Amino acid sequence: MSGGDVEDRSRLRDGERVLLIDAKHRQYLITLRAGTSFHTHVGIVAHDDLIGAEEGATVLGSTGRRFVVVRPTLAEVVLKMPRGAQVIYPKDLAAILMQADIAPGARVLEAGVGSGALSMALLRAGADVVGYELRADFAARAGANVEGLLGPGAPYRVEVRDIYEGIDERGLDRIVLDLPEPWRVVGHAETALRSGGILCAYLPTINQSSQLRHALDRSRFAMAVTLEVLHRTWHIEARSVRPDHRMVGHTGFLTTARLLAPTDEPAPYNARKYGAPGDGTGGTEVMGTDAEGADGGGVSEADDDAGLGPAWT
Ligand code: SAH
Repeated sequence: MSGGDVEDRSRLRDGERVLLIDAKHRQYLITLRAGTSFHTHVGIVAHDDLIGAEEGATVLGSTGRRFVVVRPTLAEVVLKMPRGAQVIYPKDLAAILMQADIAPGARVLEAGVGSGALSMALLRAGADVVGYELRADFAARAGANVEGLLGPGAPYRVEVRDIYEGIDERGLDRIVLDLPEPWRVVGHAETALRSGGILCAYLPTINQSSQLRHALDRSRFAMAVTLEVLHRTWHIEARSVRPDHRMVGHTGFLTTARLLAPTDEPAPYNARKYGAPGDGTGGTEVMGTDAEGADGGGVSEADDDAGLGPAWT
């Protein structure tokens, strides 16, 4: 790649979304429009000074204050875009992409779509996404947010409908859920996913996660995992190196499971084979406190302590 190409990729263009950052680290997300200007209480920045500038440049506002201009990352867009429904935090979006193993060309069904933050993450990872969303206004906003990020023509379609009533798609690779009662989707997902496909659900409470796990135990899904992502930033300055005082203490739990191919064995057979919770001992255990079974299935607490992955890896 020539130096010219690199310079060209840094050059900011009319119509692009950029992030302005002032000396106090305040951030402003704006869309560049030739001939217009951006007003803040610390001065006015002419868009024409930004268009053609290099990403990472420092520009001067009308009162002589400095602003740095960069293109926003997906995480920055998600936290700043217009939203009606609560969006999934970037730390959880990242984990969903790994846990659900989202890859280019994957056929993914997503519900509910909300403001489209998760849609953006799925599409950016290369998936083809169909969304089901109850509310027409949210579906429209998600579409606009996705188009704002990726332009028109992304492999994305949102249908205004209730996923609890059923799924029309067949042979899906992944189903990703962010809605209150995902256990009501488990039966539909067994039909709509291909064998080996992954169901991934994001839930704010462990009660809901437990209820989902209970439903998964009684289904053709196996290898269930529930986790949360703790994300703590650090203050690093001279001799003061410590965790930041504030952190987002709780967002939600992620549960994933994989659809097994049908067998002749009577259900529930997955629990016995893979040591999932609810293995006929009648419990409604939460997370990996179960399954330290002699068959070696499941994720034992000892494994977790040793920092080892689930037993099937
Ligand atoms: N993950 C989204 C936020 C989703 S908020 C984001 O990152 O932006 C949850 C959404 O689920 C809401 O928009 C709600 O309208 C929708 N919803 C709730 N129950 C639903 C159902 N049964 N079928 C389809 N959508 C549903």
